[in-house]
Amino acid sequence: MSGVGKGVAASSIALILKARGFNVTALKIDPYINVDAGTMNPTEHGEVFVLNDGDETDQDMGNYERFLNINLTRVNYMTTGRVYQEVIRKERNLEYKGKNVEVVPDVPFEVIRRIEKAAQNANADVTVVEIGGTIGEYQNILFLEAARMMKVHHPDDVAFVMVSYLPMPSKIGEMKTKPTQSASRALNSVGVQADIIIARSEVSLDRKRKEKIALFCNIRPENVISAPDVYSIYDVPINFERDHLSDMLCKRLMLKPKNRRGNLMPWRNFTKKVKNGHGEVNIAIVGKYFDSGKFTFSDAYISVIHAIKFSAYKLGVKPRIHYLSAKDFETGKKKLEELDKYDGVLIPGGFGTTGVEGKIKVIEYIRKNKIPFLGICYGMQLAIIEYARNVARLALAHTTEVNPKTPFPVIYIMPEQEKILAGAENRYGGTMRLGAYKATLLKGSIAESAYKQSKISERHRHRYEVNPEYVEKLTSAGLVFSGISPNRKLMEIVELPRKKHPFFVATQFHPEFQARPLFPHPLFTAFIEASIN
Ligand code: GLN
Repeated sequence: MSGVGKGVAASSIALILKARGFNVTALKIDPYINVDAGTMNPTEHGEVFVLNDGDETDQDMGNYERFLNINLTRVNYMTTGRVYQEVIRKERNLEYKGKNVEVVPDVPFEVIRRIEKAAQNANADVTVVEIGGTIGEYQNILFLEAARMMKVHHPDDVAFVMVSYLPMPSKIGEMKTKPTQSASRALNSVGVQADIIIARSEVSLDRKRKEKIALFCNIRPENVISAPDVYSIYDVPINFERDHLSDMLCKRLMLKPKNRRGNLMPWRNFTKKVKNGHGEVNIAIVGKYFDSGKFTFSDAYISVIHAIKFSAYKLGVKPRIHYLSAKDFETGKKKLEELDKYDGVLIPGGFGTTGVEGKIKVIEYIRKNKIPFLGICYGMQLAIIEYARNVARLALAHTTEVNPKTPFPVIYIMPEQEKILAGAENRYGGTMRLGAYKATLLKGSIAESAYKQSKISERHRHRYEVNPEYVEKLTSAGLVFSGISPNRKLMEIVELPRKKHPFFVATQFHPEFQARPLFPHPLFTAFIEASIN
């Protein structure tokens, strides 16, 4: 079922194999028609994770990158829409040479081609493929068919891992294996037999239940991995190794590990830091995808949350993250003074009108009251609007995204971007400024001292930009543009000088996508450090 932790299981498998000395890559299959995740509502689907090459993908891709510390590309992400789009393109191009193009086998063949391409591109010894959805539903059937075919073609090179859940009804107080048995049978009915079953549950699995699953699901008891709930998702790989999962997979795939004992040491050290922080740092995220300040769907900002945590762990403190709804500051349901409680405030990316004025009020308050601030994407655009209105005396300044008739369009669509939109067959699919772009940092700025270098590359996902016509005016009003694109046209980072504010930095890009457990993002670390101080 969804939410059971397939993504974390796949990432963890990839990590423990990497620790045995293999070159590992990972691939996500999402069984929906959407060509990518860019058009999906984050409250339903979670964050859109952007890759270096600009692909807008599922948040699981973020887990793969974070666990493996690698950069993935477009070929590592597949959806039903994407597969069909390619099959139809080839058909229109006569690439099937006049034969009938069939759902089976041509669609599974295209799936296999993509998996092999991802493996090839990464020069991978092992490719971990996560098939999204649930066993037994219609949506992923062609992907399971592709998996079955791969096994037929390469019997020794394919291993199947099924992630299942063992519910524990509170009245009964013991774990139930029946759903796992049914899932295994449903998997068998499409010609796939699991080699390993990861049994997710609230508590650890006992011998009796391992034996029961083994007997009814045609595997050995030692091939049932106990996967109880853990303190943090980063403990999962270590738990898997307790049950010798990497040994089992190596044996099954006939791979000779290059590291005999494995090399999970850096990871183990990181998980210790997760548990051992002294004191805490309280960070508020003021966003749009929260309901009335109650955290309802933090998945919409999952990479931001991880990025905050990695930096806090690095600095040896426990992160406490608070989710505030921007709207509550608009309606007066929440008072701005409540922000005094927090050590730092972060305003993440966003789209549209909802909560915009609330966020602007929050930015004004934290600017005046010298609360450390990190703004990301929309967070930067709104910081500029706030500064334009309240300091540069451009009343009613706005972004044309919200008010196309504003007298001072400090944020607008660049003419080049407008051209792309006008020519685009699909106005909204993949037409933003997406992926990695470079920026040059201003000497002596907060940004430069955080990064400790003057040239950076960061990932983007936006349509609107700082309007260059207002840069001079904003600069003379005291705002510092400390990161600029190499052609000097696009504003990438703004900040306030140290003597005016302890930490007021906002970026047009999304630094969170490059924050990694073992390599926290320097800008987040600088923000958390300022917040601690
Ligand atoms: N809505 C803004 C834009 O399109 C910001 C996007 C974002 O925050 N990711 O430019």
